[in-house]
Amino acid sequence: MASIAQSVAAVRERIAAAEHRFGRSPDSVRLLAVSKAQPLAAVQAAHRAGLSAFGENYLQEALLKIEALRGAEWHFIGPIQSNKTRAIAANFAWVHSLDRLKIARRLSAQRSPELPPLEVCLEVNLSGEATKSGVGPDALPELALAVAELPRLRLRGLMVVPAPTQDFDAQRTPFRQLRELLSQLNEHGLGLDTLSMGMSADLEAAIAEGSTIVRIGTAIFGARPPK
Ligand SMILES: *Cc1c(COP(=O)(O)O)cnc(C)c1O
Repeated sequence: MASIAQSVAAVRERIAAAEHRFGRSPDSVRLLAVSKAQPLAAVQAAHRAGLSAFGENYLQEALLKIEALRGAEWHFIGPIQSNKTRAIAANFAWVHSLDRLKIARRLSAQRSPELPPLEVCLEVNLSGEATKSGVGPDALPELALAVAELPRLRLRGLMVVPAPTQDFDAQRTPFRQLRELLSQLNEHGLGLDTLSMGMSADLEAAIAEGSTIVRIGTAIFGARPPK
């Protein structure tokens, strides 16, 4: 089995190859290591291999790792309940999965003045499945304009988790839609610069469509252990 350091190097090569192939500048795509369900030792190995930003979906699990690895930058990428906002505002640099104004208002109100503003992306639900999290494209502009006004949040862009598919062109379709939604929002002068899109199985398609942050779990850490 490949070591975590070898897997990190392989993922970096995939990112660099995709940047080159699709005419993106070198180092224009950030690598966020998704460490959910992985033990602390694995996160520490990835940190030693040079990764500095980690994504977590479950708050209680994340807090233990954050406590143990203070030097890293933490990104919250999972569903957010109201009772979790205070701890998220206190411990994370980024939130990728914001999809409701009520949660945004709480995060802004609870973000300490001693910390920099919380960097946020709005999660978009492109497929319209009622069970999926994310704001629909129709409600997105109103939410984005409201979030952009909140004093302790900095709206950076959009995030999507598309339904998995193997076909490369099919993978590109939702990523292209997200890029188009971002440029429509920027017509309102929002100055958004972040597309959080692409995971282990579709990072090339996401980079082809303009991803600026790929969120990679399995390709770095291997399969997630059962909870
Ligand atoms: C788990 C997860 C990832 C990482 O997925 P992999 O396929 O393991 O790379 C990325 N983004 C979100 C929101 C996730 O929940």
